[in-house]
Parts: sequence; C-alpha cells; structure tokens
Amino acid sequence: MFLKSIKILDIDVCVRQRSTFASHTRASVDVSEVMPYLNGILKGADYNKEADSIKFIQNHVEITMIKDQINVAKFANRTELLELLDWVQDLVNDTYESMSELTPLYTAQHRPSVMTIYSLLPKTNCRKCGEKSCMAFAARLYKLEVEISDCGPLAEEPYTANRDKLNNVFA
Ligand code: SF4
Repeated sequence: MFLKSIKILDIDVCVRQRSTFASHTRASVDVSEVMPYLNGILKGADYNKEADSIKFIQNHVEITMIKDQINVAKFANRTELLELLDWVQDLVNDTYESMSELTPLYTAQHRPSVMTIYSLLPKTNCRKCGEKSCMAFAARLYKLEVEISDCGPLAEEPYTANRDKLNNVFA
C-alpha cells in the first residue's frame, strides 16, 4: 500500500470559521507524485507544482496536501475528520494504483476570475451564505473556501442555469 496511514498531529478551532475545526496531519509517505494525477481527476483543485501542494474541497471541508502534510479545515468534529482522512487515504491509494491509466495535469486548472464568478451569482447580497455580499462569496469561492451549494438561492429559478455554469468549472 502506498499511503499506509495518516497521523493526526493536532486539532484546533478553525480561525477562518470558528464554529468548525482545523487539523494538521502527517502522511506516512510524501504524496507529491500522486498530486498531478489528483489534479487531473479533481475538477477545480488548486495544484501548485513548485510547492508540491494541492488544495480541494470535499463536502465543505478544505483539504490541503503539501508533500507529506495533509491539512484539513472546516470540519465539524473528530468523527468527520476521521471519515475524511479514510476517504483521502483511499483516494490517494486508488489514484496511485491507477496512475498508468490516468492523465496527469501539471498546470493549474483554469478557473474563472472573481468578477466572472460574481457575474453568475444572484447579486442580491441576501447573506444566506454567511458572507456579507455576493462579491465576498465570489472571492471565497475563487479561493475554494466555500462551495457553490453554500449559495442557496442558486438552487432556485431563475439562477439554476448560472449554478450549472459554475458547477461545470468547480464541481
Ligand atoms: S447566498 Fe448567494 S445570493 Fe445570497 S449573498 Fe450569498 S452569494 Fe449572494
């Protein structure tokens, strides 16, 4: 098995969303060689070849891998963290096993600008997402700190077509 274990180093309150938690963990192996392949299959992932890092969101939780470090942010409790780490371990191992069939992507994925994202939001500043404005939400979506589904109004007409356009890029 390529990635045998992921050890939790600490768990603390998430400074960016204080109702959630963040954790530093250490993988049993440097996962850098798998990252370009993860970048090829995780649409919307943020891969940085020079830094050997990749960031992506899974079920509202932010996961950042840097060599053998796996940092997890915005999870609800230890149970959710353990489930996510199991998922990450399976993802890395399944990807590693399939590398000969997968196409690696060594460049950052194209992502629309903050203004393009903003143009597809309802622009009502309703704050249902917890942000002060649609522009603030667009800026955080660009940084992969929130998910499209966090904007509830996008699931309603007349915004669903715009939601589908955003999903094509980030989903
Ligand atoms: S929930 Fe959607 S429409 Fe409301 S402020 Fe947030 S991004 Fe804008």
